[in-house]
Amino acid sequence: MTGTIATGRSTYRGRFAPSPTGHLHLGSLVGALVSYLDARAHDGTWLVRIDDIDPPREIAGAADSILRSLEAHGLNCDESPRFQSQSRQLHDDAVRELLDEGALFFCSCARKMLRRTQPTGRYPGTCRQRGLDKGALRVRVEAAPIEIQDRWQSTHVYDLSADPGDFIVRRRDGLIAYQLACVIDDAAQNITHVVRGIDLFESTPRQHYLQSKLQLPHPDYAHFPVVIGKDGDKLSKQTGAHALDSAHAGRNLAQALDLLGFNPPPTLQSEAPANIVAWAQLHYVTTMFRGQQQIAQYS
Ligand code: GLU
Repeated sequence: MTGTIATGRSTYRGRFAPSPTGHLHLGSLVGALVSYLDARAHDGTWLVRIDDIDPPREIAGAADSILRSLEAHGLNCDESPRFQSQSRQLHDDAVRELLDEGALFFCSCARKMLRRTQPTGRYPGTCRQRGLDKGALRVRVEAAPIEIQDRWQSTHVYDLSADPGDFIVRRRDGLIAYQLACVIDDAAQNITHVVRGIDLFESTPRQHYLQSKLQLPHPDYAHFPVVIGKDGDKLSKQTGAHALDSAHAGRNLAQALDLLGFNPPPTLQSEAPANIVAWAQLHYVTTMFRGQQQIAQYS
């Protein structure tokens, strides 16, 4: 088969990249499951990366608990999990490279002030020409169309100069912003396929832009619909989705599969997690989320 290397796996490398801001919940299990199934359907390698680059938002023990939960739910990664905090040198090197190219500038604008004066959220370029030497670092965005093709969503053309304008790659507190960290680690792990929730769709043109600036490859993207909670918001740690109890892994997996439209038979939930995941692999169709943006109301 084309693209198959000696290990028997294809060149596909995908990942699930949770931030350790809480325990695994139903919404994140859905995410892990979709990226896992897509990797398996392509005979690919599935990796787990803990995106621990924002300590103020993290919860002690969450990384460990997420890794244990994934295992308990039969989702075993093919290589040891990577911790993004250990890539700080790579992140700093990328900042240096972008600075040397003149692609970045320091910005001292307070977020509160920007929110007040820029209702659309577009950065107005205030500090672009000020020649500051401290503050947050923003990447200069040029007015040029960026076309994002997605395996499941329609093609979108973005002009980052209109929205969001020059965006932050290193925060004022010195922490590396998600957009840059994600691009660097995806490249360092040779990720070829990014499968993640549609709530991150708007991040993709920013990541595409940074990849071009740093001459990194553009992975293939596929954004799946997110699970909406009773209140109409995305089911997330922030909206209070509760931690999954691994003692009920079968029930949790069956519920995730049900939300994803697999119609699992009622008896499936009493199977061992590995068998449930194997059943899902048999029933996964690589086009099943095409054009879908939200998953039926969770009740
Ligand atoms: N760490 C990010 C999050 O939990 C996801 C990163 C990604 O999949 O690109 O929202």
